[in-house]
Amino acid sequence: MSYDKNNIFAKILRGEIPCNKVYEDEHVLAFKDIRPQAKVHALVIPKGAYVSAQDFGETASEQEIAAFHRAVAKVAKDLGVADTGYRLIANAGAHGHQEVPHYHVHILGGQPIGKMVNLP
Ligand code: AMP
Repeated sequence: MSYDKNNIFAKILRGEIPCNKVYEDEHVLAFKDIRPQAKVHALVIPKGAYVSAQDFGETASEQEIAAFHRAVAKVAKDLGVADTGYRLIANAGAHGHQEVPHYHVHILGGQPIGKMVNLP
């Protein structure tokens, strides 16, 4: 799947639409989800043009991958869920129900998140 430069997160990265930013560095941006599904719900995205977790894992540099995971841990700590716990979700592709085709991880916490998977 090729990268769609007009996806909503690409627009956020270009500053064309606003976001509620919680973290930024050279490789990573994190912001609050616009439709939160838990008391804490943030999204962490790489700045590079990666479609999905699969694309990121296969083609991103080691530096980008390291920066991404460091950022996830930092955001979790900054948002106050590192000690109480949280769930990371990376929806990928059709069966993963990925809606925005720019790789992102959801951080969900601030309350018990329930069981891991709800099949339809
Ligand atoms: P996914 O199904 O993993 O692709 O989830 C995409 C997420 O992006 C959803 O939780 C949306 O609420 C969120 N989202 C969509 N547009 C925006 C936006 N402009 N700012 C913040 N979050 C957004």
